[in-house]
Amino acid sequence: MPNSVERYPHLKQNDPEIYDLIQKQTVYEASTLKMIASESFASFSVMEACGSTLTNKYCEGYPGARYYEGYEFVDQIENLAIERGKKLFGAEHVNVQPYSGSPANQAVYRSILKSGDKIMGMPVPEGGHLTHGWKVNFSGMDYVQIPYGPDPSTGRFDLTQIRDVAKKERPKMIWVGATAYPYIIEYKQFAEIANEIDAYLVADISHINAIIIAGEHPDPTPYCDIVSSTSHKMLRGPRAGFLLSKTEDRYQQKYHADSKLNLAKRIDRAVFPGLQGGPHMHAIAAMAVAFKDAMTPEFREYGKQIVKNAKALAAALLARGYDLAGGGTDTHLLILDFRKKEFTGKDAAQALSKAGIIANFNMTPGDHRSPFITSGVRLGTPSLTAMGMKEPEMELIAGWIDRVCQNIKNIDVAAPVIRAEIADLCKKFVIPGITQV
Ligand SMILES: *Cc1c(COP(=O)(O)O)cnc(C)c1O
Repeated sequence: MPNSVERYPHLKQNDPEIYDLIQKQTVYEASTLKMIASESFASFSVMEACGSTLTNKYCEGYPGARYYEGYEFVDQIENLAIERGKKLFGAEHVNVQPYSGSPANQAVYRSILKSGDKIMGMPVPEGGHLTHGWKVNFSGMDYVQIPYGPDPSTGRFDLTQIRDVAKKERPKMIWVGATAYPYIIEYKQFAEIANEIDAYLVADISHINAIIIAGEHPDPTPYCDIVSSTSHKMLRGPRAGFLLSKTEDRYQQKYHADSKLNLAKRIDRAVFPGLQGGPHMHAIAAMAVAFKDAMTPEFREYGKQIVKNAKALAAALLARGYDLAGGGTDTHLLILDFRKKEFTGKDAAQALSKAGIIANFNMTPGDHRSPFITSGVRLGTPSLTAMGMKEPEMELIAGWIDRVCQNIKNIDVAAPVIRAEIADLCKKFVIPGITQV
């Protein structure tokens, strides 16, 4: 790798097996196109904070109210993370302790619902997350999911239909957020629906937080009771989760008259001691670093370019005759729609990966194939954008995707050539956390 940074000297000495595998994964990521829509590159500073001595510290509780002594500095760290989170998202209350996105969502349920309550969310095959009520997840076992999803004919939400379902079923909470929805989400309109039926509205912005910060996507904070997010993915922080919320519960009298705690306090209690023990202070410190970075003009530029790149890639693929779910994208991702092709989404994802384009197979709206093979491939631009790639590179990438699809039957011959071309392109860019200028 050019300008690759020699890291982990102690690990290299002490555990060469693990060191070697990390090196291999790093070289792999630095010489292929990481187009998994939920990934990006964390900076050296985020990883230094995450790999710091804070990993040793126990401090169950919250700043100013810990169950372990020796908390002077970790309190300051957690308070900084909270203050930065409030400023970045304009939130009244922030909890930075969830271990990841899924535990953050678990805390959402525990803070506002009772076991067996009805919630509205998108099933996984339609682009929802496991934790939005999917049957194999705790959320589908302990709560009742009323499903909704994009209209199969347009690939977009039909708000009239969603309102009808909501009014008929009257769920107590509505999840709005997705893992594979390429369009703008109108939180204001979802809030109107939630208000009509006295339901909580919870946004899950794990996939799109950076483009919200960049102003490329509407901001859910004013319209939602709670906003849940991961701090990895396009935000480029550590693998962790956080919750933004209002302080007061607008349905306190209706649903929580027996509780003396407001919404903010109930969320804090749900996270600790409800679900978790000691906070991961190394991750919280790294989250504070990521929040600071996310307030810079450079980060906003990155967020804007993510969308420009996705649109450029969509245009270049459409120009080559490919179908896209809903016809394009407004966000960081697009879904190639292979319903008319003989090959499946899985065939395509495997062939692309041989050629150095790393993505995942995904259901496409109106899919006739099973969720285990699908007719779609989900492609995202955050990692490419973090490397500094722009519209001209998207044109090149569309060309490579086309070559892979044209050669899918003899991919073992075509792939090595494409993979070498991709490795050459990657060498021209500085990869955050891997190479430096
Ligand atoms: C990634 C994601 C999560 C869960 O995050 P993990 O950290 O993988 O547990 C939750 N919701 C959405 C929408 C996501 O994209």
